[in-house]
Formats: sequence, C-alpha cells, structure tokens
Amino acid sequence: MEPVLAQGSALPPFGRRCTLQRVTRMDVLRTSEWSDIINHVRIHFPDLVRGWFNNLEPRGIQSGLFTIAAENHAQVRYLIDHCRQAFTEAAQASTGMLIAVRFETDHVEPPPNPSLSFEQESPEIVLNSAYVFENFVTGPCNRLAHAASVAVSEAPGKAYNPLFMHGDVGLGKTHLLQAVCHTVREREPHRRMLYISCETFTNHFFEAVAKGAMSQFRYRYRHLDVLAIDDIQFLGQWERCQEEFFHTFNTLHQAQRQVIVCADCCPSDIPGLQERLISRFNSGLVALVDRPCLETRMAIIHQKAKLRCIEVPEDVIKLIATRIETNIRELEGALIKIDALSQTRGEAITHALAVEALGPLNTRRSVAIPEIIDLVSSRYSVRVSDIQGRKRTKSITFPRQICMALARQLTHHSLEEIGGFFGGRDHSTVLYACRLIDEARTHDPELDRSLQEMTGLLMQGQSPR
Ligand code: ADP
Ligand code: MG
Repeated sequence: MEPVLAQGSALPPFGRRCTLQRVTRMDVLRTSEWSDIINHVRIHFPDLVRGWFNNLEPRGIQSGLFTIAAENHAQVRYLIDHCRQAFTEAAQASTGMLIAVRFETDHVEPPPNPSLSFEQESPEIVLNSAYVFENFVTGPCNRLAHAASVAVSEAPGKAYNPLFMHGDVGLGKTHLLQAVCHTVREREPHRRMLYISCETFTNHFFEAVAKGAMSQFRYRYRHLDVLAIDDIQFLGQWERCQEEFFHTFNTLHQAQRQVIVCADCCPSDIPGLQERLISRFNSGLVALVDRPCLETRMAIIHQKAKLRCIEVPEDVIKLIATRIETNIRELEGALIKIDALSQTRGEAITHALAVEALGPLNTRRSVAIPEIIDLVSSRYSVRVSDIQGRKRTKSITFPRQICMALARQLTHHSLEEIGGFFGGRDHSTVLYACRLIDEARTHDPELDRSLQEMTGLLMQGQSPR
C-alpha cells in the first residue's frame, strides 16, 4: 500500500485529471502525489526551485488548504513571497482538487542573545499615532514627497525605490516616513517592516561588531519588506557603517524590498557619503520637502487646531502663520502657547491674547527679494528685468544665481517661491544656484567677501545702488 502523509480519508488516485472538487474535510496526500506536485513546480517554474525544496514536508489538506512545512522562517518567507502561485497550480493539477496552499514551519527562532540589546526590542515598531496621511496638509512645498509616500505605502518596493526625502528641520519628513509605515501596517500587517533612526542603525551595527554578532544583524536588516530610516545624513560620518548599509541596501533593493529614507539635505550634499551610496539614492526618487508658503502654513494651523479641538479665529491663524515661516514644529508650538494662555486666563483666544502669548516680534529685519535684486543688479551692472527674465548668458546667470542664494539665506521664502521671482524657475534651479554659489565662495575669497558685504547691507536695510 502506498504510504500516506496525513491521517484521514484517501484522495482520488494520483494523476486523475477530474473537474476540480471543493475540499472541506481533512484529506490525505499520497507520496506519489507530493512528488508530482514538486515535479510540476520543477518543470514549470525552474527559476523558483531551491535545493532545500527536497526537505519540504506536505502536511495534508484541511478545509481546502494544503499545508506545506519548511525548515525555517526564511524558507517560509521565500515560499510565501515567490512560490504560492506555483505550488497552488501544481497542487491543483496533481490532486484534481480546488485547493490553496499555505506554508508553515515548526522551527522556533533561537532565543535572542541577551547581550545584544537590539535583539531584545519588540518587533512592533513605535510610531507616533498622529503621523498619518490624514493629518498631513499638502501644498506646493511637499506635494511630490507626499504623493510619492502615498504611492510607496500602497505598493512597497514597486512604486519608487528607494524613496529619498529631504528638507530642512521641522518640515514633515518624519511625519511622511511614519505615515508610510502606518499605512503599510494597516493594509498589509504581515509585512516585515522596520522604522528606525540612522543613529539606531549605527548603534546596532557597532554593537553587533563588538559582540561578533554580524549574522544576527544582517538577518535582522536584510529580511525586511520595508526599511525606513530617518535622518540618514548621520551615516556620512561612519565609513564602516556605510559599507554595511550599502550591502543591506543592495540585498533589499535586488529583492524589490522598499527602502525609504529622510535627510536634511539631498544625497550629494551629505558630508562624507560615499559616491556609490549617493548614486544608489539618486537612482530612485529624490523628493524635496520645502518650506511651506503662507497658505499652507495657515492650512496646517487650521488642521492642528482642529485636531486639538481649539477654536482659533482667522486673524490669529494669520498672525501665527506670518510670524513663523520656516518650521512647522514651531507653528504647532505657537498654537500650544496661545491655547495655554487662554486656558490659564479662562479667556477665549483673541488677536490681543495671541500677541501677548507669542511675545515681542523677532527684531531681525526681514529682507525682501526686490531689495536683493536691486542691490545685485547694480553691483554686476545688469538690468533688473534681465535678472528676472529668461536670458541665459553667463553675465546674467551668475548675478541671478547670487540673488537666488541670497534670497534663500535672507528670506523665508520657499525654493519654489524664490524661483517665481526669477522668471518662474522651478525649485531645483534655485537649489542648484544655492549650491553653486556656496561652492564658488569657498575657493573665491573675493566673491565671499562681496557676498558678506551685500548680506550686511541687506540686513541693515541699507542697500545703496
Ligand atoms: P522633520 O522630520 O522634517 O524635522 P517632522 O516630520 O518631525 O519634521 O514634523 C514636525 C512637526 O510638524 C510634526 O508635528 C508634524 O506633524 C508637523 N508637520 C510637518 N509638516 C506637516 C504638514 N504638511 N501637515 C501637518 N503637519 C505637519
Ligand atoms: Mg525628522
């Protein structure tokens, strides 16, 4: 008699190509049927086959589910990710039954090495519950980064990979990164995801090196569906860590796993970052999160007030948005300050109360872009209309780039807004100009001196022609 692989009633004989039956009871599988299934996979899906398939163990069929056991979790992962379709087709063809397959393992993961703190961490990642897409206000400053994050959260590894988001502090990078993680966790809870700061990554790395536990480290970071690292700019300081991250990145990327990172500047501006990592990051989507314009700042305050159930009159919203131009965290802080004063006093929020709560205005003079254009055009003897126009001759582009760099430094306008003053150029042109001038002044002392002098004049409000 042919051996059976699970207890219960016998299946129809092997090889019978009947109309697929629905299976609801516990069924057994004959050895020959199992060989048939494996052979079917070998013949029809040769690329998927691995040496360890010989050790897979069929566990029988229950309620239409055919269970196959593997030796460990990594194998189960591989089977789930790549082979479910192949085994389903093979099982249905070989048994003649309408069955689905599931994979499992009895293997118990070795207990964590108590000397390694990162092994003891809860697999549950800690996310701020407020950092979700619903609470994120979009505007021209962050539209691309937001759209890309949503796309990544809906199809990790498929949309933009890697996704690199950069921008000044307090502009919503961490919010977006965590929003991706929230969405993935909600939509696909089985996904293995890790959200960490770059500092944690480097700490884990050095700890693993010191304890000789690199294989655990690699297992942890290379068997993920989504790796999200915040403040990746700190990687530039650590040569060996970069090496390790490079290999982690490659392993994940080749397996079409999602890598998503944030930094305070674009890849090529990260001090000490290796060229090969710069090029890896640039191979995906690099999205800027820029300073928000007035309308976006007002929309954000509206939204934060709503979330905190604070009634804020329109003139107070405008007051906060006008006073705080560069950092959304500070916008929130201002709102909290005003609310706290209104609660202590037992008074409703009014413009006067808000002014009192926010204290005296920052006395630093605010510089207007036309003043910059005026000063630079007179220094370089070019017409204002040329600086703001589309001509691309060097004698005009250079002073125009200087204007853009000074505007970035001395005003609170976003890159996009600055571009608008100079013939409707886009944010990347402005960013390029700022970098070019920064670079040029490092090896041109004359230019550096002239820029310093113009900065001084503009800040004091004395920009004689
Ligand atoms: P970053 O990581 O760029 O320094 P965060 O993501 O920590 O900035 O954002 C700082 C604060 O500003 C957070 O409370 C975040 O919720 C809020 N914030 C930033 N951008 C937005 C936005 N577009 N809409 C709503 N809240 C935002
Ligand atoms: Mg952050």
